[in-house]
Parts: sequence; C-alpha cells; structure tokens
Amino acid sequence: MKVSVIGASGRVGKTAAFCLAEENCVNDLVLISRKESIDKVEGEALDMYDALAAKDVNVKITASYDFEDVKGSDLIVLSAGQPRSAGMTRMDVAIPNAKIVAEYSRAIAKFAPEAIILVVTNPVDVMTYIALKASGFDKNKVFGLGNHLDSLRLKNLISQHFNIHVSEIHTRVMGEHGDNMVPIMSSTSIGGILLKYFKGYDDFDMDRTVEKVKNAGNYVIQKKGATEYGPAFAISNIATIVLNDEKKILTVSAFLDGEIEGVEDVCLGVPVKLGISGIERIIPIIMTERERTAFLKAAELVKKDTDFVVNAVDEDISSK
Ligand code: NAP
Repeated sequence: MKVSVIGASGRVGKTAAFCLAEENCVNDLVLISRKESIDKVEGEALDMYDALAAKDVNVKITASYDFEDVKGSDLIVLSAGQPRSAGMTRMDVAIPNAKIVAEYSRAIAKFAPEAIILVVTNPVDVMTYIALKASGFDKNKVFGLGNHLDSLRLKNLISQHFNIHVSEIHTRVMGEHGDNMVPIMSSTSIGGILLKYFKGYDDFDMDRTVEKVKNAGNYVIQKKGATEYGPAFAISNIATIVLNDEKKILTVSAFLDGEIEGVEDVCLGVPVKLGISGIERIIPIIMTERERTAFLKAAELVKKDTDFVVNAVDEDISSK
C-alpha cells in the first residue's frame, strides 16, 4: 500500500518514514518536503534503501516536493510544522502550524481524496480539527497521534515499577495531548488484574507517575532536542493497524460528535476501533467521577484553544 509522509526532512517525519518502510504492508513510500529540503530528503531515501537491503526489504521510496507524487496514497502522515523547544508549550506553535496544516490538508484533498490523514503536528488535537475542516474529509478519515504515545509512556512506567513485561500492561491516556491528559487508571490492568489489586500497588506513586507522563516529551526535548523514536513507532503502529485492517482499539485524537460524555465539535484523545476505513467506531469508556471531570475539563480547554486558533488564522480554513 502507498504511504506519504509530509514534512519528511523533519526528525519525526524521517524516523517515522524509516519505521514505515520496514512494514510489510507498505510497498510504496513517498517522502514529501518543501523544495528547499529536497536534497536532505533524497539523502534520507538513499540511506534508507541501504538499510532496507540489509534487512531484505523491498520498498519503493520516492523523495519529492511535487504533490502529484502523493496521488493514490492510502495513508498520509502529516508531521510538517514547527516543533516546540524546551520550555515551550504545544500551543506556542499553534498559529504558524495551523497555517501549514491547513494548506497541506487542502492539497491532500485535491491530490489524494481517498487517503486517510494521520496528523502529528502539534498541538495535535487542535491541528487534527484544522486538518479535518481544511480537507473536508469525513471524520473517520482524519485523526491524530497524541494520547497513543502518552499511553505507551504510561505503560513503560507501570511496567518498570511492577517489573512486568510491557505487553501485559493495559492502560489508556485520554483527553488532551498536553497538560490536560487524563490517564484512565481505574481500568488499568496488568495481565487482566486491576492495578489496585496487583502486588506492589501500595508503593506505586500514581500522581508522580502521571506527572512523569505529562512531562515525558519535555524531558526528551531537554536532553536531546526532540522526540523521534517514540512518535515514529507510535505512528507506524497506528498506520499498520489501519492498513492491515486490524480492528484494534487505540487512543487517537478524533472528532467527537457527542459519542463520549456528550462532548462535541472538538478533536480529543478517545479510544477508537481502527481499520482500513480509519476510525470505525468511537468506543465509550466508563470513567470514575474524577476521570470524567478531568476529561470534560480537557474537552472545554481544547475547544477554547481550537476556537482561538481558528479565529486567529487569518483565512478560511474550510475546504470549500
Ligand atoms: P522538525 O525536525 O523541525 O521538522 C519539521 C518539518 O516540518 C521540517 O523539517 C519541514 O519539513 C517542515 N516545516 C517546517 N516549517 C515549515 C513551514 N513553514 N512550511 C512547511 N513545512 C515546514 O520537527 P519534528 O521534531 O519533526 O516535529 C514535527 C511536528 O511534530 C512538530 O509540530 C512537533 O511538535 C510534532 N510532534 C508531535 C508528536 C505527537 O505525539 N503528536 C510527537 C512529536 C512531535 P520539510 O523541510 O521536509 O518540508
């Protein structure tokens, strides 16, 4: 199947492209960048070919600044935009990124109207909304990476504390990909056993763990300047689940139309069933009163941010 990555010279874009190139379901990979970055992206493609030969993987990789090459894509990863530096919030880059995301989303609608868009650019919940409106696509075909990465980070911390393999940890972070994320600890389980009944729970510092997940991206940015491997594997996770029609439940930023707690007209991290048509169903989840209150607060704040960005972007973001 054909996958295009937009913003492919970027740290997340190129690392995600490398992960995707290795996946069996991807046989045609397009790396899209601005004209000024084409040399760098051509170099990435050549380097990837060498690596893939060592792994006996055969995939066509095209580096391009011509959007014609995106035609026929089944899935498009949109990671173009300014990253935040250490100490910046994701909202600090919202307005410039909204313009970039809107422009690319319109181009996707023109050249690859059948594609599914996986938005990565931050603030991702707001950018998913912008991409949905600017592309004019159905809401099942545009969603964002955010809380899936947060959920992986939470899994790691639980796995380390309880000294249990990460695959046995079932947990979920919802809400905003940012300070207002909502870890759903009430239904978190290890090997099917609720966390609160698991040996080692008494000295598990839940609040500290949640704070670590909230700051996980920042810790990495402070140390090495950007997050790369975490988002890249999370992107290839989501992409392969869609392309292989796996029907797994993952938390992605999705447009809500009242499916969870009556929240509507905002994109927020929620559990969804993913398959070849994108989001096949939003899965309502039972939350404690505390989790529900936090989720509704996240919805309110992201909606406020989204309205602010939509109004500030001095152009009509709709596709029509
Ligand atoms: P980066 O290394 O700076 O790359 C961003 C790429 O975006 C650039 O290489 C460039 O690609 C493109 N770009 C930059 N300015 C542009 C402009 N004015 N117009 C068009 N394209 C432009 O950043 P990164 O670390 O890869 O991060 C990319 C985005 O992903 C950021 O917004 C970051 O915050 C976000 N992110 C999200 C998550 C998540 O979980 N959702 C995780 C990590 C990062 P070309 O030169 O190839 O066109």
